[in-house]
Amino acid sequence: MDCIFCRIAAGSIPSKKVHQDDAVFAFHDIDPKAPTHILVIPKKHIASLAAAEAGDEALLGRLLRATSEIAREQGLGKGYRVVISTGAEGGQTVDHLHLHLLGGRQMHWPPG
Ligand code: AMP
Ligand code: ZN
Repeated sequence: MDCIFCRIAAGSIPSKKVHQDDAVFAFHDIDPKAPTHILVIPKKHIASLAAAEAGDEALLGRLLRATSEIAREQGLGKGYRVVISTGAEGGQTVDHLHLHLLGGRQMHWPPG
């Protein structure tokens, strides 16, 4: 499968790595939309949140826990936002599930 985020998680495409464990990989977004903008992805290819299946619950939980740990390590004690763009109308542009961790500035509502 030719998936850019699978390649990044495997190390065959370089990235600014923030975190790696047996199930989760995190790296800086190449086009940051906030002072801190990190992508947290499963090493397993899941095309989107909508494609997550029964049996993926533990992995989804791992992604959220990793994201909160990374936020703490990044000094985002004042708060942050986690975004999962899903599908075309959700603005998803890379078809491998990813959590955007955005912080370091005031967030606004509603998002675009
Ligand atoms: P989305 O548009 O929500 O699917 O998010 C995809 C994100 O991936 C965007 O914020 C892009 O800037 C980011 N992105 C795409 N290619 C790379 C890459 N090679 N390294 C880091 N971030 C990337
Ligand atoms: Zn993938």
